[in-house]
Amino acid sequence: MNCRQAQDFSMKYFDGDLNDIESAQLKQHFKVCQNCSEDFNNMSSVMEFLQYNEIEPPRDFEENVMEKIYSLEVIRKKRTDTVLTVLYGITGLLFILLAVIIAINFNGLTIFEAAEKLGDSMNAWSGVMFTLYNLFKVFYNMLTGITGVFLQVAIVLTKTYYYIFIALLFMLFVIQKMFATIMRQGDEV
Ligand SMILES: [Zn+2]
Repeated sequence: MNCRQAQDFSMKYFDGDLNDIESAQLKQHFKVCQNCSEDFNNMSSVMEFLQYNEIEPPRDFEENVMEKIYSLEVIRKKRTDTVLTVLYGITGLLFILLAVIIAINFNGLTIFEAAEKLGDSMNAWSGVMFTLYNLFKVFYNMLTGITGVFLQVAIVLTKTYYYIFIALLFMLFVIQKMFATIMRQGDEV
């Protein structure tokens, strides 16, 4: 047997296709050829390792990775949605509150008083519109920030909260002014 044949027999051995006679011939070659003997031993070690260690990636490996990436995307999106929902909620509540206050304000007034109140209310409404305009500007800044790089997001967010703070202060001022008007009206009646 030459080395070429010994290699073929070795492969057949690991495939489990080697018969007893061939096996004996192979062993005979290993006795006289150290190279083939070492190759066979090395190959045996590798085969043993493969047999006892599952080295294939899990079948759903890619699926799991994609799922994780997707869930991260969802969490990121949810966070953005939550911030926007809270902002819309605050705006909505303040808007309803203002509308109710203005509606109450019109009750039990003479035509002249009503006309006067209408003028005041127009001022108040322009205030509301100004505030809403600012809030929309805030939303626009936020959306721009989200699509931008991290530093831009940080800067825009700082700017955003500054605007929200100013906007809320302005709304508070308007509400306070309207409550003061209602109180004064109550005193007169
Ligand atoms: Zn050999």
